[in-house]
Amino acid sequence: MPIYKTELKRKEEIATGTMAFHLEKPEGFAFKAGQFADYTLINPIETDAEGNTRGFSLASAPYENDLMFATRMRDTAFKRVLRAMEIGREITLDAPYGSFTLHNNTRIPAIFLTGGIGVTPVRSIILQAAHDNLPHNIFLFFSNRRPEDAPFLDELTEAQKKNPNYTFVGTVTGMQNSARKWDGETGYITKAMLVKYVGDLTLPIYYLAGPGAMVTAMRKTLNEAGVDDDNIRTEEFSGY
Ligand SMILES: Cc1cc2nc3c(=O)[nH]c(=O)nc-3n(C[C@H](O)[C@H](O)[C@H](O)COP(=O)(O)OP(=O)(O)OC[C@H]3O[C@@H](n4cnc5c(N)ncnc54)[C@H](O)[C@@H]3O)c2cc1C
Repeated sequence: MPIYKTELKRKEEIATGTMAFHLEKPEGFAFKAGQFADYTLINPIETDAEGNTRGFSLASAPYENDLMFATRMRDTAFKRVLRAMEIGREITLDAPYGSFTLHNNTRIPAIFLTGGIGVTPVRSIILQAAHDNLPHNIFLFFSNRRPEDAPFLDELTEAQKKNPNYTFVGTVTGMQNSARKWDGETGYITKAMLVKYVGDLTLPIYYLAGPGAMVTAMRKTLNEAGVDDDNIRTEEFSGY
C-alpha cells in the first residue's frame, strides 16, 4: 500500500481513558468504511520494544473531511508520545488495509456486536451507511461498563435519526459506578437480547470487533444461539 505523510489536526478525550486523534486526509487517499491503517511516529522522543508503529482502525467515515482514530491511552511509549504530540506534527500512514467492510447484499441484515474501543471501525461503517442512505437493516449492540466508557455513544445513538434502517442497542454492565443517566439495556449481550431486537438470528451477517477476548466471547454467544461461523466476520485488535 502507498505510504502517506499526514499531520495531527486535533486531539480530544472521547471517553474515560480514551482519546481520538484527527489527522489531515492526504491528497488522493481513499478507503472503505471499516478498514484500518498502520501509523508510524516520526523521530519520537522515546520508544520501547513494541516500536513506533501501531495499527488502528479508521474510525472516521470516508465522507468525512479528516481522518480519525481512537485508542485506549495505556502507559506505553507510543501512546505517551501520541498524547503529548503537538498539533501540526507529521505522522506516517500506511493504508488502507483490511476487509472488515459491509457486505453488498442489501437484503441481508448486518449485526454489529462490540464493546469499548472495538467500536472504532463500526463508527465508520454506521456513519457512512447513514450518509449514503444504504437500505441494509443495521443493528449495533454496544456493550460498556458505563456510559462514560463508551466512545462515540451520542453520535451512534443520533445516527438513528438519519437512518431509519439502523437500530442502536446500548448495554451497560456497571451502572452502579456511573454518574450518568441510562435508559438503555443492562447486562451482557445475550441470545435473549439479540432475539428481542433482531428476531430470526440465522439470517444476518454478524460483525465482531475489538480485543481478542471480547471477540471470542461474542463469537461464543452467537454460536450458542445457533449462528453459523460462515455468517460471522471479525476484526481482532491485537495488543490488548
Ligand atoms: C486490525 C487492527 C485494528 C486495531 N484498531 C484499534 C483501534 O481502533 N483502537 C485501538 O486502541 N487499538 C486498535 N488495535 C490495537 C492496537 O494496534 C494496539 O495493539 C493496542 O492499542 C495496544 O497498543 P499499546 O501501545 O497500548 O500496547 P503495546 O505497547 O503494543 O503492548 C502490547 C503488549 O503489551 C501488553 N501491555 C501493554 N500495556 C499494558 C497495560 N497497561 N496493561 C496490560 N498489558 C499491557 C499487552 O498485553 C500486549 O501484549 C487494532 C489492532 C488491529 C490488528
